[in-house]
Amino acid sequence: METLEETTWRAREWFEARVPRRADSAARSGKPWSVAIFPETSHVEERVQLDEARAWLQAKWSARLAGLDWPEAFGGHGLGRAYADAVSAVEADYDVPHHDLLPITTRLVAPMLRLLGTEEQKARYVGPLARSEIVCAQLFSEPSAGSDLAGISTRARHSPDGTWSVTGQKVWSSGAQFADYGLLLTRTDVDAVKHAGITAFLLPLDTPGVDIRPLRQMTGGACFNELFLDDVPVSDDYRVGNVGDGWKVATTMLGFERDASGDDTTLGGSWIQVLSLAAAMSKTSDPVVRPLLADVYARHLLAKVNVARDLSDRSRGLPRGPEGSMRKLQWVEGMVQISEAVSQILGPRLVADTGDPETFGWNSHVLGALGYRIAGGSNEIQRTIIAERVLGLPPGPRVDRGIPFRDIPTS
Ligand SMILES: Cc1cc2nc3c(=O)[nH]c(=O)nc-3n(C[C@H](O)[C@H](O)[C@H](O)COP(=O)(O)OP(=O)(O)OC[C@H]3O[C@@H](n4cnc5c(N)ncnc54)[C@H](O)[C@@H]3O)c2cc1C
Repeated sequence: METLEETTWRAREWFEARVPRRADSAARSGKPWSVAIFPETSHVEERVQLDEARAWLQAKWSARLAGLDWPEAFGGHGLGRAYADAVSAVEADYDVPHHDLLPITTRLVAPMLRLLGTEEQKARYVGPLARSEIVCAQLFSEPSAGSDLAGISTRARHSPDGTWSVTGQKVWSSGAQFADYGLLLTRTDVDAVKHAGITAFLLPLDTPGVDIRPLRQMTGGACFNELFLDDVPVSDDYRVGNVGDGWKVATTMLGFERDASGDDTTLGGSWIQVLSLAAAMSKTSDPVVRPLLADVYARHLLAKVNVARDLSDRSRGLPRGPEGSMRKLQWVEGMVQISEAVSQILGPRLVADTGDPETFGWNSHVLGALGYRIAGGSNEIQRTIIAERVLGLPPGPRVDRGIPFRDIPTS
């Protein structure tokens, strides 16, 4: 078997032969690395990005540089997390194809289904999801159920012929416009308490009655959608977990989501980019800018320490647990801090395209960073998790505890 060092060395050689390093890529294109947080591309361009990202993952898989920590039973290489982490660390140096739907599919849905799917579902979907041969969106949030996710009201009713009929609305569904399936949470029992009356399905998104509409963001792109479900027929074969056990499906996926949060240290702007901007604007000695730069740098170092600690915990087989909430907070606060620093450095140039290189582009960062304060559970909700599960503080009052869903007052 290849040693960890051999795999790391082989990964470096393989990436070097196929993709540009991040810095080289910026120099060759004549553009700075993008500091945007969300894509601002058209539907067609985004489709191409997704296809490239899928092809890239599959090429890595064939070269034994992806699926390293997946069991052989699911087409993986069965080598363990340390190998996967080592290859990811090398890959972070390269400008590789990426699309947000891939981590949702491969890091949230696939591992959840591996744990909670039926044997038939595992055999049919887990390998193809892990390799992104099929892609799946997360259909959790609704207009009145985000932080309070267990308050979802999309209804699934069981018909006498054994199928289900689903009616309701989902929102914020990242990448659903390109997905083959959606992991859907529905309310199946309004007489049970809210966490108990939920059932999950793997919904084929080409089913009649599913209407997916893109939502345009203030940054220009449209990577999210709202999704309307009108009497959508769903076979019971697509049910994931037992009827009424959908909350377990949700929390399992959310656990994987928090575990993955903050791993993408290449997203948006970096310390080096902020520093080079300050230098280009002759602001490195500015008494207002200097403390902001110091804060960004300190957080940059802390993020490195945290990554090293996570890698060490993982290599010892320790789960991340509620500490994932701390990492997510630190990661997002770092992005927001970068936004504040560049806003101070640039002043009005941030909002007016003066043609000066590396200035107006930060606009996308500043407008996008706030999105991650909300995504995957807002900062306030992460703080509540830390307070209750890490610090052991008493839980906040929950007025709907023990009440059937149908009796919970709605606004
Ligand atoms: C970039 C991005 C991608 C996303 N992708 C997906 C996706 O693919 N699939 C999906 O299903 N969802 C997705 N979401 C939705 C996301 O999970 C929700 O936006 C999030 O859970 C917050 O819900 P909400 O928007 O309804 O806000 P609300 O829950 O209405 O919250 C509004 C504000 O009130 C605060 N608040 C609410 N409750 C409390 C409380 N108990 N204590 C303190 N403060 C509170 C919140 O922190 C927030 O500041 C995405 C969101 C973003 C921003």
